Amino acid sequence: MFQDITTLLLDPKAFKDTVDLFVERYKGKDISVVAGIEARGFIFGPPIALEIGAKFVPLRKPKKLPGKVISEEYVLEYGRDCLEMHVGAVEPGERALVVDDLIATGGTLCAAMKLLERVGADVVECACVIELPDLKGRERLNGKPLYVLVESH
Ligand code: 5GP
Repeated sequence: MFQDITTLLLDPKAFKDTVDLFVERYKGKDISVVAGIEARGFIFGPPIALEIGAKFVPLRKPKKLPGKVISEEYVLEYGRDCLEMHVGAVEPGERALVVDDLIATGGTLCAAMKLLERVGADVVECACVIELPDLKGRERLNGKPLYVLVESH
């Protein structure tokens, strides 16, 4: 059953409250990069980045970014997928937050973290609106903290 976050966006107060919960958690934590995963990480990531004074870096599906990229492939339930990040968008030593709407098996967040770590960034935490805990995606994050607002069973 697909968890649809677009209904949340129809309610400006609920959308703002959602962003504010993340902002409260990450403000003042010296995070310089918010990396958002295509596509729904592009909805929640930028308002968080603006409020905490961080840059926003899009992690995109293959062949979407115009510049030079690094790529990270990952395994899906059926087949493979890939995320890409612009070379030079993140510097070694930067403190990064990874944002997406939902964690299922954890493969997407895992690939996102690998991209950031390959360029020497320190991933502080991953943040999602929804977790599907039955799929145990958290266990694929190699001990990296994951913060979620809602669990869906
Ligand atoms: P994972 O890699 O953790 O298995 O899947 C998470 C990725 O797939 C996220 O980028 C998320 O947007 C998308 N996704 C998988 N299932 C759902 C779902 O039920 N609802 C939404 N909104 N996204 C999903």
